[in-house]
Amino acid sequence: MENLFDNCKLCPRRCGADRTAGKTGFCRMPDVPVVNLIKLHYGEEPVISGRNGSGTVFFEGCSLGCVFCQNYGISRGPTGHGMHMDATALSDAYLKLQDEGANNINLVTPMHFAPVVADSVAKARFSGLVIPVAVNCSGYDLVPTLKLFDGLIDIYMPDMKYFSSKISSEYSNAPDYFSVCASAVDEMVRQTGDLVMGTDGLLKKGVIVRHLILPGALFDSKHIIDYLTSRYGNRIYISLMSQYTPMPSCTGKLKERPSRRSCESLADYLASKGQERAFVQEYESSGDEMIPDFRT
Ligand code: SF4
Repeated sequence: MENLFDNCKLCPRRCGADRTAGKTGFCRMPDVPVVNLIKLHYGEEPVISGRNGSGTVFFEGCSLGCVFCQNYGISRGPTGHGMHMDATALSDAYLKLQDEGANNINLVTPMHFAPVVADSVAKARFSGLVIPVAVNCSGYDLVPTLKLFDGLIDIYMPDMKYFSSKISSEYSNAPDYFSVCASAVDEMVRQTGDLVMGTDGLLKKGVIVRHLILPGALFDSKHIIDYLTSRYGNRIYISLMSQYTPMPSCTGKLKERPSRRSCESLADYLASKGQERAFVQEYESSGDEMIPDFRT
């Protein structure tokens, strides 16, 4: 079987790194998943966290690398404190989270390890995992990589960060971000179908597209809302997040939080589009208390 790590083109960076030989690419990650933290997490949307929490697995590394990354403690490369976990170890971890009462398994930024992670979900299903499995990702994801998860993933929670290629170039060195993300979200919706809610009020299947409101980018956020509401409407959830927190390395506009006024006006704009399947984060809930206590 083809080894997708030996000439790695799993993400749009298409580095071609031979990760099986110890080389790394843009994501700086080996071919074995590196996990920083596994915990029941209560900070996701209510239909994900519920009362019992979401069984969350935080992977290290990222292939997007935003300058303002809110998880920068683990996204910029190996922390040296991560756990190397193969498909069997990951599968065991999901089953343990299920035993602890997790509502779902929530895989955060797993795409640069996709072949192993897909295998781990298949193994866990075979061994008795019955709760939904969610993938939480940057949206800068290739359709062929997403297809590795086809039939295994119940819920996708991609970001849709930028509409403008000027902004995506400046903040993520990814001028093609929007077109890549738009194709990825189409594939995610194709895989999961429309939203399915359980009698417990929790999401069982479907897509939640998240948009983090950035300072000074109000019009870009409006373009994202226009796009998502016209293409999918209430077939998906749209989650507007106002938790942006300036990181120490941020400069220029990114040193400030978005204003309360701009967050409220975007919430009104989303409502004006008739979007009922929506989450709008409270402005007060913003801040670095939303960032998990990673092992760094
Ligand atoms: S997953 Fe990592 S090594 Fe592979 S193409 Fe993307 S950034 Fe490069």
